[in-house]
Amino acid sequence: MSRVAVGQLELPRAHDLPPRWDGHRIEWHGWHAQPAQVFICPPSAAKPQPCVRCGSMTEQVMNRGTVWVNLDDLAIPAVRRGRLHAERVATTLMAFRCVDCHHDQVHDMTHGDVWDLDPTDYADEGSWQQ
Ligand SMILES: [Zn+2]
Repeated sequence: MSRVAVGQLELPRAHDLPPRWDGHRIEWHGWHAQPAQVFICPPSAAKPQPCVRCGSMTEQVMNRGTVWVNLDDLAIPAVRRGRLHAERVATTLMAFRCVDCHHDQVHDMTHGDVWDLDPTDYADEGSWQQ
C-alpha cells in the first residue's frame, strides 16, 4: 500500500516517483540525504531551498533519475542504429522531496529546468511537459 500525504489530502499514488518522463523510461536510483557538498550544476540546486509548497527548511532528500530514450522513438537512420544500443541516456534528473509535506521538485540537470510535480505525474503515464 503506497499512500503519501500531500498537504491535507492523502492520495493513492501508483508510483513513488514518475515512472516516465515525456514518455521515456526513468530509472530512479534511490532516496538519500543530500551530501554535505554537491558538485552538480546548476549550483542553486545544491543550496538549501525552502519547500515551495509548505515553506519547510528541513533538508530535503534527493533521488537521481536517469531518463532512457528508446532509439525507436528517435528519427535515427536504420543504418546508424546497428552500432547503437537499444537505449541511451537522454537526461539526468534530480528529485528533491520535502520530508514534511512530501512535495517533489524535479531538476532537469541536462536542460536546467525545474519542475514541481503534481499528483498526475505519479500515474503510469508519468510526467509530461505541459
Ligand atoms: Zn513541504
